[in-house]
Amino acid sequence: MSDPNCLFCKIAGGAIPAKIVHQDEHVVAFEDINPQAPTHVLVIPRAHVASLDALADGDHEMAGRVMHRAAEIARARGLMPDGYRVVFNCGPGAGQTVYHIHAHLLGGRGFGWPPG
Ligand code: 5GP
Ligand code: ZN
Repeated sequence: MSDPNCLFCKIAGGAIPAKIVHQDEHVVAFEDINPQAPTHVLVIPRAHVASLDALADGDHEMAGRVMHRAAEIARARGLMPDGYRVVFNCGPGAGQTVYHIHAHLLGGRGFGWPPG
């Protein structure tokens, strides 16, 4: 459920401080420490799952909650209709550095495609 060596488990448990945007029984959202856009919020499940690659059949509801919360925060911040981006980096080649699954909610500026 929780990994004592995991940075984001520690944030979810309150052992390491973060600017919490939302928390409930299942999900925690907090400001990224190194924001890449005017809005840069990380949305994580409380349960420790290392990455998208580690998702299992039993994780579908949790994954849906993470995505839905990203959308709710985007709505609350008025990021539509301009739009926003939600990113899951998976693995080293995609830039994943913290191995507790998280959605990056990025908004408040334009985004190019394809991504870098
Ligand atoms: P990844 O590179 O794994 O997709 O994303 C990890 C994100 O976590 C990065 O955007 C990084 O800035 C953020 N991050 C790393 N350490 C901390 C921390 O201690 N607190 C917060 N709020 N964000 C962090
Ligand atoms: Zn964790």
